[in-house]
Amino acid sequence: MAVRVDMTLCNLCGGCTYICEQEALRIEGDLLLVDEARCQDCGECVKNCAAGALVAA
Ligand code: SF4
Ligand code: SF4
Repeated sequence: MAVRVDMTLCNLCGGCTYICEQEALRIEGDLLLVDEARCQDCGECVKNCAAGALVAA
């Protein structure tokens, strides 16, 4: 499983893309994309997103 992004909450700050040690998150245009094959469900990005835009699987 992988985290999910709520794009109604995400402000594309980019913080999570640096936090994720698996490099599973990237911004493309106006979307934050999750590479489900890379995400290890560690929860670090969920804890650190101040906007509450990331939801654990
Ligand atoms: S840290 Fe949160 S608000 Fe910032 S890009 Fe990631 S999901 Fe979006
Ligand atoms: S849960 Fe962990 S591995 Fe998955 S996207 Fe977030 S920081 Fe990366």
